[in-house]
Amino acid sequence: MRSTGANSGSASHSPAVLTDFDDTAAVENVAELLLTRFGDPTWHDVRSRFRAGELTLNDYQEITFRNIQADRETMQGYVKEHAHLRPYFKELQGYCADHGIPLAIVSQGLDFYIEALLDKEGVSHVPVHAVNTHFTGQGIAYEYRYARPGQERLGNSKGLVVEGYKDRGHQVIYVGDGMSDFEAATKADLLFAHRVLAEECQRRQIPYRPFKDFRDVLSALQELSQDGYVDGHGPSDEGHAPTGPLAYPGKGEDEEP
Ligand SMILES: [Mg+2]
Repeated sequence: MRSTGANSGSASHSPAVLTDFDDTAAVENVAELLLTRFGDPTWHDVRSRFRAGELTLNDYQEITFRNIQADRETMQGYVKEHAHLRPYFKELQGYCADHGIPLAIVSQGLDFYIEALLDKEGVSHVPVHAVNTHFTGQGIAYEYRYARPGQERLGNSKGLVVEGYKDRGHQVIYVGDGMSDFEAATKADLLFAHRVLAEECQRRQIPYRPFKDFRDVLSALQELSQDGYVDGHGPSDEGHAPTGPLAYPGKGEDEEP
């Protein structure tokens, strides 16, 4: 993880913002954008098998991207042309940089298309915890650096990444939209959810704040910094319980979608 300021790492319970990529940091599902343009038409069938539980997410991803003939640069160019970051991501990135708050992408998708969009938007220094790809003469090789030991078959674990930030003393604000975010969502100190993840949290009565765009997250960070202890530049937080207002402040609003 990149250290972003004097208060990173050593600060007790300072926030860190982790966000999913496809359909969350990115407006589009960029993986599906690429498969639609460059993939074999059978990718829909493979997705159906994944959704039916016959394939793991990394099987689905590897099978569908295996048939793509386009090279890395071609796909990155297509992403830059057709994908967009969700509004206020860049403002959030600026705020986090100014306040020494780590901000990172956590995805079970592929690094090269995430990096393409971040590069296009001028935020390529945002760390990416995703599937690492290597383009070889024999196709794409995949590397899962965030798999739980013993569960490599399941690919990367977003929950493991959240745990890593918590182990380093951060209170984690997590933003996501899908079932692949669920484990991470249950470990986060403050959760922003939309789409399927919001429905699942509602069904299981897991508190969350509705997510529309990153202004929601920015506002939460600003609210918290006014309390004077989540911004590492504010007054000492010695007296605060570690789970203070960061712990599910959406409670009471969790009936909302
Ligand atoms: Mg997603």
